[in-house]
Amino acid sequence: MTDRRRELPSVDRLLREPAIAVLLDTAPRNAVVTAVREALESARSNRAGPPADWAEAVRERLGELTTRSLRPVINATGVVLHTNLGRAPLAAAALDAITAVGGGYSTLEYDLATGSRGHRADHCRGLLAELTGAADGLAVNNAAGALVLALNAVAAGRPVVISRGELIEIGGSFRIPEIMEKSGAALREVGTTNRTHLRDYEGALDGAAAILTVHRSNFAQSGFVASPEPRELAALARGAGIPYLHDVGSGLLLDLAAFGLRGEPSVPEAVAAGADLVLFSGDKLLGGPQAGCIVGSRDAVARCRANPLARALRADKFTLAALEATLALYRDPEAARREIPVLRMLTTDAATLGERAARLAAMMPVEADARTLRGESAVGGGSFPGASLPTTLVSLDPGPLGAHGLALRLRLGEPPVISRVESGRVLLDPRTIASGAMEALATAVAAAFER
Ligand SMILES: *Cc1c(COP(=O)(O)O)cnc(C)c1O
Repeated sequence: MTDRRRELPSVDRLLREPAIAVLLDTAPRNAVVTAVREALESARSNRAGPPADWAEAVRERLGELTTRSLRPVINATGVVLHTNLGRAPLAAAALDAITAVGGGYSTLEYDLATGSRGHRADHCRGLLAELTGAADGLAVNNAAGALVLALNAVAAGRPVVISRGELIEIGGSFRIPEIMEKSGAALREVGTTNRTHLRDYEGALDGAAAILTVHRSNFAQSGFVASPEPRELAALARGAGIPYLHDVGSGLLLDLAAFGLRGEPSVPEAVAAGADLVLFSGDKLLGGPQAGCIVGSRDAVARCRANPLARALRADKFTLAALEATLALYRDPEAARREIPVLRMLTTDAATLGERAARLAAMMPVEADARTLRGESAVGGGSFPGASLPTTLVSLDPGPLGAHGLALRLRLGEPPVISRVESGRVLLDPRTIASGAMEALATAVAAAFER
């Protein structure tokens, strides 16, 4: 232990230093005191001892303390459904709905006609049914929760038949076998990793409570593979008098084949194939808030609604407000494609992206040596795993910073910019950059080069 570390000033003495005292003019006292304590703590545990400039050390801590942890960023990666960056940006109508409901009181659980208690589960119910062709619908907190709820509601303590090829992991900590176990249902695996036949399911129905299909969201199987059609499984389940559950994952409500996006099961298709319950996310291809949507037969949805887990997994008022507003846009498919950011970004044509890239490149600082080049964007969020989305990228020369150095500066700037690094250059994909964010992006890049 060196003497220098024992000679640390007191909190009070530091707070009286003029360069630190002025911080109290603009920041709450509690925050400044915490910053001083943390600076002292760091000096105590740091081999180097006290900082050369206490005020500077305290200002730095204060900056960290008063910056929000959850902040907006510019997603320049071109990954449209970037789970780590919050998945779907919301449509203006959804944001308006959140603002309208969040700032005051609402009909969350209130029936205006009778002046008495209403039901939270009634919001989105009609729209979910109308847009998917199902008899009924229910929105909960997220799709993982929807699956736990559905399994618990129809199969607690009993076997659920599922193909070995669908015992998958979907993003961090969501593994079908574990989720099934937690739901209280017993896993009854059939078939093999690559091929499962209708007869495999048929031979496993004795005492089973349900059949479950889980969409292989984030990878594609090809080659010597087989699995029965959803309508065959629905018929088999109906014959056995048990429900058929289909977790389709992404919540695709429109046909995007015209835009080169094929192979993802749509919710209306899954409903039409005869599933008793179809489950999907609100914030993947649907383009709404984080939510888990359950649609299906009146009886099966009623069992979910009545299950105590529905209370534990219930959606909050912001979710319901945003989901209702997003779903309402789908009543006019063209409006949905235009106004729901996820759909707009996925369906932006190559020529428009080329123009945007050229405009962005022209806004870059000279030393960035900005060039445009052809590349690809990704759908992300485990949706359309094999899809290719042609785009035009803006490529920057990072100079002495190196590509990773420039990417780091961009992340630590304001607003933070998340870019791609490839072959020693930093790449920006205009597909996921809102047109209103171009100026801010250009300023952030210039600042990263200047510092
Ligand atoms: C993404 C996904 C989920 C989980 O959805 P969350 O809304 O993130 O909980 C469940 N099942 C499938 C097939 C998925 O693709």
